[in-house]
Amino acid sequence: MAEFSIIDTYFNRQINSSVDLGVGDDSALLTPPPNQQLVICADTLVAGRHFPLDTNPHAIGWKSVAVNLSDIAAMGAKPQSILLALSLPQIDHDWLKGFSQGLYDCCDQFGVSLIGGDTTQSPHLTISVTALGWIEAGQAVTRSGAQIGDYVCVSGQVGDAAYALQHLGHHLQKRLDYPTPRCQLGQKLKGLASSMIDISDGLAQDLGHILKASHKGAILNLENLAMSPVLQDLCHEQKWQYALAGGDDYELCFTISPQNYKTLLQQQLDVNTTIIGTITNSQTLSFQHHDQAVMLNLNGYQHFA
Ligand code: ADP
Ligand code: MG
Repeated sequence: MAEFSIIDTYFNRQINSSVDLGVGDDSALLTPPPNQQLVICADTLVAGRHFPLDTNPHAIGWKSVAVNLSDIAAMGAKPQSILLALSLPQIDHDWLKGFSQGLYDCCDQFGVSLIGGDTTQSPHLTISVTALGWIEAGQAVTRSGAQIGDYVCVSGQVGDAAYALQHLGHHLQKRLDYPTPRCQLGQKLKGLASSMIDISDGLAQDLGHILKASHKGAILNLENLAMSPVLQDLCHEQKWQYALAGGDDYELCFTISPQNYKTLLQQQLDVNTTIIGTITNSQTLSFQHHDQAVMLNLNGYQHFA
């Protein structure tokens, strides 16, 4: 089966009316909405490195889109479309069917169109997705705006994906295989959050990026970390390790003034948010548990200072 036949069979479904021209020409065409900035990001998944070779292809398709929509959400932007660069070792129709279905399922859930890409043969299965979205000019929520006294907040629960990676077959594996990009929350935080990041490398490390970019510090109250019941039941050291240093959560971590947080809670949100700490002028990230200082040696956590 030639490249064009793969594209036509698996990657040429209907596009949203907001796209002028999708798959099939030399490039896609989009009309920028008035006074909006283009928000664009890319993420690559390599088989054997980012997921085991035998991972369900539907989950790979979903996740390759979800991780990019999470980056768009973390800017406060609305996702619109994606491009897919696919390198395949061989043509496996069962795999392509499952993968494309997972990819389109995630696209459909968040109103996103696949508008183009590239398909090549290579010894390694590699999936590179580029996502595009829009935001009112000047409104993007970057990593650098945290202010002293802001709350540090997190959406959903952290540590599930890292726990699932070590307990394959556990029901939390769906959190590892099918992360939910927080697209609605991200857009609601536009104009309210002072800084934001999505958690892909662990909460401590990713919050560290906010602190470094904002030239601030933070103190976290470990008793406030939202975790699944199975993690809550672990000993302190273990659960904090999962929650703070586990990767692949794709929750949003943001800083917000107490007043703006009240405004946020007046709206209907499709995910809970939790206040887990406060921004300080200390330039360091420190931890306490019921007001007692805690020293943590987190695996894989690189100190940002
Ligand atoms: P060109 O040779 O001009 O780069 P291609 O033959 O690579 O064009 O692609 C033909 C069309 O199919 C283009 O519109 C391209 O964006 C699209 N396309 C190629 N591969 C994919 C893919 N994996 N998913 C979606 N669209 C694709
Ligand atoms: Mg090409």
